[in-house]
Amino acid sequence: MEKLVVDGGRPARSEPMPPAYPGGMMLGQEEAEASGAVVLDQSPFRYYGPNMRYAVQQLEDMISAYAEIPYVLGVTSGTAALVVALKALGVGYGDKVIVPANTFLATPGAVVCSQAVPVFADVDDSLNISPESIDKLCEDDEVKAIITVPILGNLCDMDAIQSIAKKWGIPVIEDIAQSCGATYKGSFAGTIGDIGTLSFQMNKVLTAGEGGAVITRDANLFERAVRYHDQGSFREKSRYGIVSDDEENAFVGQNYRMSEVTGGVLVEQWKRLNGILGVMRARYIAIQQTLAAELPGIKFRVEPDSTGYTGSHLGMILPNAAIANQFMEYLYAENIQVYPLYGGKPVFMLPQLLHQRTADVKGSPFAYPFRKPVIYTPDSCPNAVSLMPRTMYLPISPLLTEQDAVEIAAGIIKVYRSLNISEQKG
Ligand SMILES: *Cc1c(COP(=O)(O)O)cnc(C)c1O
Repeated sequence: MEKLVVDGGRPARSEPMPPAYPGGMMLGQEEAEASGAVVLDQSPFRYYGPNMRYAVQQLEDMISAYAEIPYVLGVTSGTAALVVALKALGVGYGDKVIVPANTFLATPGAVVCSQAVPVFADVDDSLNISPESIDKLCEDDEVKAIITVPILGNLCDMDAIQSIAKKWGIPVIEDIAQSCGATYKGSFAGTIGDIGTLSFQMNKVLTAGEGGAVITRDANLFERAVRYHDQGSFREKSRYGIVSDDEENAFVGQNYRMSEVTGGVLVEQWKRLNGILGVMRARYIAIQQTLAAELPGIKFRVEPDSTGYTGSHLGMILPNAAIANQFMEYLYAENIQVYPLYGGKPVFMLPQLLHQRTADVKGSPFAYPFRKPVIYTPDSCPNAVSLMPRTMYLPISPLLTEQDAVEIAAGIIKVYRSLNISEQKG
């Protein structure tokens, strides 16, 4: 057996992994020209200017065609997209929203900023929201929406989730911030529930540094999303053939409008999506198949759709947290940077959520007198508590070559065998 680096052996890779920003590492001349042109044309605002290019419109049309969904709205961030989606659904003070325990703070954060309170569903071996846990939480009639989050490109079990949501009559928001381009049974992730939200922040599959989008098939939800994101107005009714009277339908909103500079970058990024996904999926499959063949005991995240993932991260579930940490440490020495997500903890363990602290001095929205009070304790999500600290994610950059995939698999096999992982218990 080959020696580990920690025992004086040669590293599996001579270089660290490339930075894990899929779209970010592809930013180039095209994005620079498209955004620069908007500036040189002195028209960075999406709705008017002296020499409009309508980059945000073009982006919305590209997403609409790609995702096969009629309504797309560019916004300023993934967090803004979530707030807009919640407000489109009419969620607000006195409501509860189901959120998975394993997600980025922005998901429950957007719920709180919408004046509602998140309640946390547990995860299953996909490390995504568990349908059974949703079903249980829906017994509380103060729950008014469900947010699903396919973590790092791996799909949620949408058939099961949709049937539970329909049974209870509760709408589903798909937060696909980490999974742009993933498909579930052939459908673009984000188009299965009532409304989907995308992010174009730096870590995401495609990026303009910041940016987001809301997608839906529902004309009424779309109109409400547009109005919320633009101070209550709806300027492009004729673009969608929607007739709507402002006197009757306007409500107080926000400003979450996407800039044309962002739009210009994202039009060019979107053209790269298939190329990025193609390489990531090929490397993902190559590494996963080699590991599965050489390490019969290895456990991967369950994949509710085993072809639709983005391929941006391969999730490996180790027997316990101590072994997972050793696995990570030894692989770092091999120049293979795997890591757990979110410090290995459910999101509600972060102090701002755990202590239910907001910027509001009167404690809104947590101060609402719910019939069933909301408290956050680890016991409510035992699977997340058990699985999150022992799930290690291998980032898969579109810059990785076939040779990189061979070396990465070899390094993981070396470390896995030397730790005798298949012999160890949880
Ligand atoms: C990144 C992210 C967001 C927020 O996106 P921003 O564009 O950073 O506001 C929301 N949800 C999830 C799951 C994310 O990973």
